[in-house]
Amino acid sequence: EKAQIGVTGLAVMGRNLARNFARHGHTVAVHNRSYNRTKELVEEFGHEGTFIASESAEDFVASLERPRRVVIMVKAGKPTDAVIDEFAPLLEEGDMLIDAGNAHYLDTRRREAALRERGLHFVGTGVSGGEEGALHGPSIMPGGSKESYEALGPLLEDISAKVDGEPCCVHVGPDGAGHFVKMVHNGIEYADMQLIAEAYDLLRRVGGHSPAEIADVFRGWNEGRLGSYLIEITAEVLKQVDASSGKPFVDIVLDQAEQKGTGRWTVQAALDLGVPVSGIAESVFARALSGGADVRQAAADAGLPGPSATTGAHAGDLQADVEQALFASKIVAYAQGFQQIQAASKEYGWEIDPGAMAKIWRAGCIIRAKFLDFIKQAYDKSPSLATLLVDQYFLDAVSGAQDAWRRVVATAAAQGIPSPGFSSALAYYDGLRAERLPAALIQGQRDFFGAHTYHRVDKEGSFHTLWATDDRKEVSA
Ligand code: NDP
Repeated sequence: EKAQIGVTGLAVMGRNLARNFARHGHTVAVHNRSYNRTKELVEEFGHEGTFIASESAEDFVASLERPRRVVIMVKAGKPTDAVIDEFAPLLEEGDMLIDAGNAHYLDTRRREAALRERGLHFVGTGVSGGEEGALHGPSIMPGGSKESYEALGPLLEDISAKVDGEPCCVHVGPDGAGHFVKMVHNGIEYADMQLIAEAYDLLRRVGGHSPAEIADVFRGWNEGRLGSYLIEITAEVLKQVDASSGKPFVDIVLDQAEQKGTGRWTVQAALDLGVPVSGIAESVFARALSGGADVRQAAADAGLPGPSATTGAHAGDLQADVEQALFASKIVAYAQGFQQIQAASKEYGWEIDPGAMAKIWRAGCIIRAKFLDFIKQAYDKSPSLATLLVDQYFLDAVSGAQDAWRRVVATAAAQGIPSPGFSSALAYYDGLRAERLPAALIQGQRDFFGAHTYHRVDKEGSFHTLWATDDRKEVSA
């Protein structure tokens, strides 16, 4: 008997994906650089299904039915290239190498092009949901050719998370599309987490509530429109009490957020595409600020002052207002992330259906939420929507939230509490709705020092003012 699918790289993610395939009745070929992991998998979990364990790459490849489907689940970067170099010569035309690690989409584009030359399909696949997702059903974002999806899709859909029986897996688009979308998913996750953290901070510092009380607030919110995995786990973390000190867990954790890099990648890509993902960028920078221990210490030593007079209490119902600010800011962050996906889709000719992305993120991944249903509906209604903010549901939500949102940002500024997520989201919103932006002045400055020219509101063409001359005449550029 031959295996329908193979997995090479059997650390936690690969092992759980292999088990997931096996639990769904597929025969799974398994391989790892060092054989002990392969042996352990079969010894511990062999009873869960049918595994064919191989020590050598050659035996592993020989154990697969054709076209061969080889899932690579190794450390992203050089190890992925090493594994591709090892396997590509052993494969035959039409076989598939599926990189399910967290690769950068530009690496995926490069690898796909190189393997296509050799007649092989390279399928860069985003997999979200961590260890648990990999075992019980992740959200899966495969790129690569349509043809490869025909042979591979049914297997991936089988092991993916489901919402009302529908798989959280869809062919995203060619070459790097899957890894790109997975990257933006992670960027949005950063923004979501930052906004939740700001909401907590305001309830704590302005409202004076304890972490346990705030856990209850989040539990309540989880029943409403904010209902999501991240809100749910936030409540769990906030109610946790540290066993050794008896203090709230959140008070004994060092306040320096770490990152593995996918948020940074998202922002770097957005800069290249010229898409203002300020929500994601602020959350990456907020983590960097928190981690800048030296700079924070210098600020503490210098005694950087806060507001001179504490303004009175928040001018509204703090809890209700923060919920509104959180929801509105979340809408902005998602609108920006989806805009980035659309921009990349256009740039690379991927033809990504943004509604389908919202659909496959509804389960299995970290940002899973009810909210995504509304994003899906918005794009179903209008696939070329310029921004989610103009969809009726989101427009109504932001209209309803904006007064509260402004009060929250004002309170944070007045009391000296950092809220980069809430305040930058509001600035973005006001930027979008502004009838005139001071960008006109910037064009004037650019023309003054660099003769960069400008367009006029009343005439076609490019113009330049002769700033250095006495009469500062305007000329057509
Ligand atoms: P690791 O990222 O820790 O990688 C370990 C695996 O890579 C081992 O199987 C190891 O083999 C193999 N490996 C490392 N270098 C090489 C090499 N040069 N040649 C061959 N094999 C090599 O494993 P994880 O399971 O944590 O993650 C796998 C992938 O999944 C990564 O790309 C990671 O970014 C991604 N990931 C995704 C998550 C998600 O939520 N989607 C969560 C966590 C990870 P050996 O045993 O011989 O050392």
